[in-house]
Amino acid sequence: MTEFELIRRYFAAQPVRRRDVVLGIGDDAALLTVPHDRELVVTTDILVSDIHFLPDVDPEALGHKALAVNLSDLAAMGAEPAWFTLNLVLPRVDEGWLTRFCAGLYALARRHEVQLVGGDTARGPLAVSVTAHGFVPHGRALRRAAARPGDRIFVTGVLGDAGLALAHRLGQRRLPEDDFRSLRERLERPLPRIAEGLVLRGLAAAAIDVSDGLAADLGHVLEESGVGADVDVERLPVSPVYRKHLEAAGWDAAIAGGDDYELCFTVSPGRLGEFEGARSRLSAGATEIGVITAEPGLRLRRADGTPYRPGGAGYDHFAGVEPP
Ligand code: ADP
Ligand code: MG
Repeated sequence: MTEFELIRRYFAAQPVRRRDVVLGIGDDAALLTVPHDRELVVTTDILVSDIHFLPDVDPEALGHKALAVNLSDLAAMGAEPAWFTLNLVLPRVDEGWLTRFCAGLYALARRHEVQLVGGDTARGPLAVSVTAHGFVPHGRALRRAAARPGDRIFVTGVLGDAGLALAHRLGQRRLPEDDFRSLRERLERPLPRIAEGLVLRGLAAAAIDVSDGLAADLGHVLEESGVGADVDVERLPVSPVYRKHLEAAGWDAAIAGGDDYELCFTVSPGRLGEFEGARSRLSAGATEIGVITAEPGLRLRRADGTPYRPGGAGYDHFAGVEPP
């Protein structure tokens, strides 16, 4: 199969057709219409075999995840997704692989009405890079630098499922097969919190998506905002399956596991009333986990107020955490 046939078969024939795409795949570049009252939000992520995913990963899950991690970045800005481009490095043309990859990619693209408008294809070691584009009304994007002392800190959904699933896959922890099956869904097919980001636009102060683990990502918000935080570890939201393993696994996967793709955000005291009113519209749910402080640094504490000591393998991820 030639490169041209490959592009025609797998990429030109994609399912989403938006009216703001003047020209999509097939020319030297795409032509896109940005609404006059919107800012264009652009984000990109690269996934490299052996580093970001295991080489035997289900291609359908890889297609999903390559787009999902970018949509998650748009969600964290409060953006509404519109278009994406796809750069693909493939060791060979494997039609079965490409069919499954595209199935995962396009199922998520349809769900969010986001259109593939271009890309590039080359031969080499397997790697996938997506660039996603979205819109926010002028000046309304959610930024990392906007947290202020007194803001409450929240997180959507649950944390740590993906981290526990990865620990099982890497042989660092043994989980019953049923439990692993339910957790691996969170690792392989994270759902970007797009709808939640749109609700939070205008309500939240700062926001970030949790891709490297809560401690690392909240740490970015703290650094960019020039503030600190007290976080109550025992209030972190975890799934029923995680809770079953809490005694053995501890909170570390929820604090530093990574790959959660939830939103962590702050709400200023003056907006808490309005936020409570809108809370039912956050379908993933939101849990209050702590408070922003003027004193810099991230302090993790237990319910009785004593410092939480991160243990074991995850420790490197805790670089920004104050020593207990
Ligand atoms: P060029 O030589 O100008 O780089 P290509 O032959 O690489 O053009 O691409 C032809 C068309 O196919 C372009 O519209 C390009 O955006 C699109 N395309 C190439 N690879 C991909 C891909 N992996 N996903 C989506 N579109 C692609
Ligand atoms: Mg090209």
